[in-house]
Amino acid sequence: MAAGELGEGVGVVVADNPGPLTLDGTRCYRIGARRAVLLDPGPDRAGGMDRLLELVGEADVEWVGLTHAHHDHAALAPRAAEEFGAPLAASPQTLARLGLEGRPLGDGDRLEVDDGSAYLDVLETPGHSADSLSFCLQPARWLFTGDTVLGEGSTLVAPPDGEMSSYLASLSRLISLRPERILPGHGPPVAEAGTLLEAYRNHRLERERQIRDALEAGAGSLDAIRRRVYPELEAGLASAAEASVRAHLAHLAERGLLPPGFDAGGEL
Ligand SMILES: [Zn+2]
Repeated sequence: MAAGELGEGVGVVVADNPGPLTLDGTRCYRIGARRAVLLDPGPDRAGGMDRLLELVGEADVEWVGLTHAHHDHAALAPRAAEEFGAPLAASPQTLARLGLEGRPLGDGDRLEVDDGSAYLDVLETPGHSADSLSFCLQPARWLFTGDTVLGEGSTLVAPPDGEMSSYLASLSRLISLRPERILPGHGPPVAEAGTLLEAYRNHRLERERQIRDALEAGAGSLDAIRRRVYPELEAGLASAAEASVRAHLAHLAERGLLPPGFDAGGEL
C-alpha cells in the first residue's frame, strides 16, 4: 500500500510483513503535516525506507517514536532516526531493550506537532508487553495504540512480558479517555473507538469465564484448557492461544482463583 492521508495531519504506510499476528502488516504513522512524529518505523525489510520517505514527504521529523520494542515495529527505527536526523522517543524499557539512546517517555510527557496547537500525550499502557506506550493526539483525541489494541481481532498477551492484569488496567484507562478514533499498529483505523475498546475488554472477560468453566469441568492442565477454549485454531496460532491461556491463568492465580493443586506445567 502506498502512503495514505487520514486527516488531522496524520499519514500512514503499511509494511510488507503480513501474517497471522501482524494482519496486513505493521502500520507506521506520520503525525503532523509539517513538524512531525514518525511512530513505529516498522520491520527492517527491503523497501521499508522507501515507504517511510514517501510517508514523510516534505515534513520535518522531530521525533522517531516507538510504542514498544517488538522488531516488527522498531527494527527500522535506528535507520529512520539517522535518515531523518531525529532522535528516538520511547519508554525507558523500550530504549533499554533495543540498546539505543533516546528521549525516555512516560505518563504526562507530551510531544508537540506542527505549530504546537496539536500534540501527542504519552500513556503507559503495559499488558501486550511491559514496555508498551500509547499516544493520544490532542485535541482530536486520536489514539495510537501500537499492539495494545488492533484494528481487527485481538492482540497477544504472552507472559512473562505480557501480563493480563496490567493489560486490563490499560484497557480501562484507554476507555476512560473516550477517544474519537483508534489508529492501531496493525489493521485499519477504527472510528467506533469506544465500542472497540469495550469489545476488547469484554473479549478478555469472556475468555476468563471460559477458562474458569474449563477448570470447574475438571480440565487439569494448560493443554486441556487450551483445547477446550480454542477447539478450532487457525494454523500458526497454537502457541499464541497457549500464551493467552497462560496469561489468564496467571491473572487467576494472582487473585487466588486457581483450584488447589492445579498444575500449569511450568511457571505461569
Ligand atoms: Zn508487539
